[in-house]
Amino acid sequence: MPPFTRRSIPLAQPHLTDLERRYVQDVLTSSRLALGPYLEAFEARMAAACDARHAIAVSSGTSALHAIVRALGLGPGDEVITTPFSFVASSNALLYEGVTPRFVDIDPHTYNIDVDRIAAAITPATRAILAVDVFGQPADWPALTSLAEEHGLALIDDACEAPGATIGGRPVGSWGDAAAFGFYPNKQITTGEGGCITTNSDEVAALCRSLRNQGRASDGRMRHVRLGYNYRMSELSAALGLAQLERLDELLSRREQVASWYEEALDGVRGDVVLPPHDGGESAHRSWFVYVVQLREPYDTDDRAAFMQHLERAGIGCAPYLPAIHLQPYYRQRFGYRRGDYPICEHVADRTIALPFFVGLSRDQVRHVARSVREGLESLRPTPSVGLHR
Ligand SMILES: *Cc1c(COP(=O)(O)O)cnc(C)c1O
Repeated sequence: MPPFTRRSIPLAQPHLTDLERRYVQDVLTSSRLALGPYLEAFEARMAAACDARHAIAVSSGTSALHAIVRALGLGPGDEVITTPFSFVASSNALLYEGVTPRFVDIDPHTYNIDVDRIAAAITPATRAILAVDVFGQPADWPALTSLAEEHGLALIDDACEAPGATIGGRPVGSWGDAAAFGFYPNKQITTGEGGCITTNSDEVAALCRSLRNQGRASDGRMRHVRLGYNYRMSELSAALGLAQLERLDELLSRREQVASWYEEALDGVRGDVVLPPHDGGESAHRSWFVYVVQLREPYDTDDRAAFMQHLERAGIGCAPYLPAIHLQPYYRQRFGYRRGDYPICEHVADRTIALPFFVGLSRDQVRHVARSVREGLESLRPTPSVGLHR
């Protein structure tokens, strides 16, 4: 039997054990399917993991971001500075409230918002900065904090890709006014669908709790004091999430292990491919979300398409990751963005490819992927013209 058949290595996969099954089974046995003890335990554990005063579990990372935008009172006429190199949810959360996103280009090495470019984008309408810890690499939170304080701006962390990451000795989720986490099955920890807000502000926490539950007053009666939503997380998801959180250190160190196997297996292709930085500066420790490589120039999007086709034919999951938000059709149409508006982001977004990356990936599978990467690169090289002379 060949070790790997067609489509044999997916891009991502959750890692579930008997602990997850036991906790979920416990919920099924208890018949308490919502707002129960697992939700409380999950929130307490999240708050502790993030070194934050409060954690409010919600139905998705997107609803976490939306609740934060609402809780901070951002609305029409307000501008929020954010990154164009992210999953579209980080900027959509602003649009839900009529807030205008002001994109700022990224740092070409960390792929995170370039803090040095932010001051120039601040206008009298700017109310907040929403930075993203993209691919698990923490944004420069110490610098963002100083900048936000200096200009009197709120600070939001989209930490959906970075549970467990730290910078300056502090975990993401403890910085700024509030942070959002997401637990879709491709993330470091999953609840199926789900998310969480962490914050050190009692006021933001109370507002988010109310918003997730139809705008109820904090006395818990059927009194709705603001427009709210049903953004609650079910007890089944919370049980799954509690088990995953209890295994967070194990899951993160295994992901780090897989990343170092890649680094070793891909060492020979560094001339053609940029490997992800292991850490972003002395004081940052990343949480590995995805393993994203970048084809070097002169390779372009066509080369990337051919390269990905090669990987796909070999049964290896891959994706062009991430596309620039400002070039998404909806954003182009609504705001008139064009190619060239954020050139560093575009350069990166045109050339990055996510390779299979999950806890269950073996060293042999990583080597197999690396072999296909080498073959894929070979296939891109111009074929020497075949002479007919004898
Ligand atoms: C996953 C993710 C989200 C939220 O995703 P949901 O699918 O709503 O849970 C938000 N921002 C970023 C950067 C993400 O990667």
